Amino acid sequence: MTAHIIDGNAIARALRGEIARKVRVRLSGGRAAPGLAVIMVGNNPASEVYVRSKRRDCAEVGIRDIGLNLPANIGASQLLAEIDRFNADPSVDGILVQLPLPTAIDPNTIIERIRPDKDVDGFHPYNIGRLVVRMPLLRPCTPYGAMRLLESTGVSLRGQHAVVVGASNIVGRPMALELLLVGCTVTICHSATRDLAAEVARADVLVVAIGKPEMIPGDWIKPGALVVDVGINRLADNRIVGDVHFESACERASWITPVPGGVGPMTRAILLHNTLLAADRDRP
Ligand code: NDP
Repeated sequence: MTAHIIDGNAIARALRGEIARKVRVRLSGGRAAPGLAVIMVGNNPASEVYVRSKRRDCAEVGIRDIGLNLPANIGASQLLAEIDRFNADPSVDGILVQLPLPTAIDPNTIIERIRPDKDVDGFHPYNIGRLVVRMPLLRPCTPYGAMRLLESTGVSLRGQHAVVVGASNIVGRPMALELLLVGCTVTICHSATRDLAAEVARADVLVVAIGKPEMIPGDWIKPGALVVDVGINRLADNRIVGDVHFESACERASWITPVPGGVGPMTRAILLHNTLLAADRDRP
């Protein structure tokens, strides 16, 4: 079997086109462009690349981006004060704090300070809680983007056995909740899982988000599985690879996301979707 490739670039482009059209409708109705505040602390090179691309995406769809760069040695209280300022500003619909933060700042305290209705990353416990109780609103971008990619295959997900490898707050856990929401039977694996190969072999739908280059070999994968590779790993030779060994996985999977060009562009497109959603709710 040679897997069909799920083209994240094309699906994200279509979603951005749809968002741009909706923003134009807002503007022609006399409403303001949605506003997204992007807060970056320090100058982590990978974060700078992500923030630049998010700003480019905003410009493409007509979202107004308000950038705030703070020095790496800023204290948590100063960062909280900036969040309070954006929380109170009616022209700001979404607030994003680029992670990771300097180690001296606890990210949970920062995330909890963002007003839940402006939490366009979907990381606030309120928004995660809404997903738990099947009332999703602002959904974590990467898992929701991954769901849109799975749905693009046209394969029915209800009743499938889904295995999520990775249990982080921002990817693995909300991913499992998204899969549960569409009727999958879900297994979540993490670093204490005893027999990872056996768990992976049971997956009709496999989502991997561990941050270990090509750790999942193709011969672990159930023939015909749908595979979503969330991992982004830069190798010493500068190549970017996922957490799944792509070439060998293509021989087993029915559908697979590439890295790059799979989940990454969808994550960014969902951020725009969430910002528009937050704006439409605040100022209908
Ligand atoms: P974290 O480091 O926060 O979490 C990694 C998870 O993987 C943890 O739950 C950890 O288990 C688990 N894990 C680590 N090693 C193993 C192992 N050997 N076997 C089984 N489980 C293991 O990472 P993130 O969730 O933030 O990110 C994961 C990957 O996804 C990274 O490559 C990141 O760059 C990428 N990413 C991509 C995005 C995109 O848009 N495409 C967005 C966000 C992340 P435990 O909980 O026990 O420690």
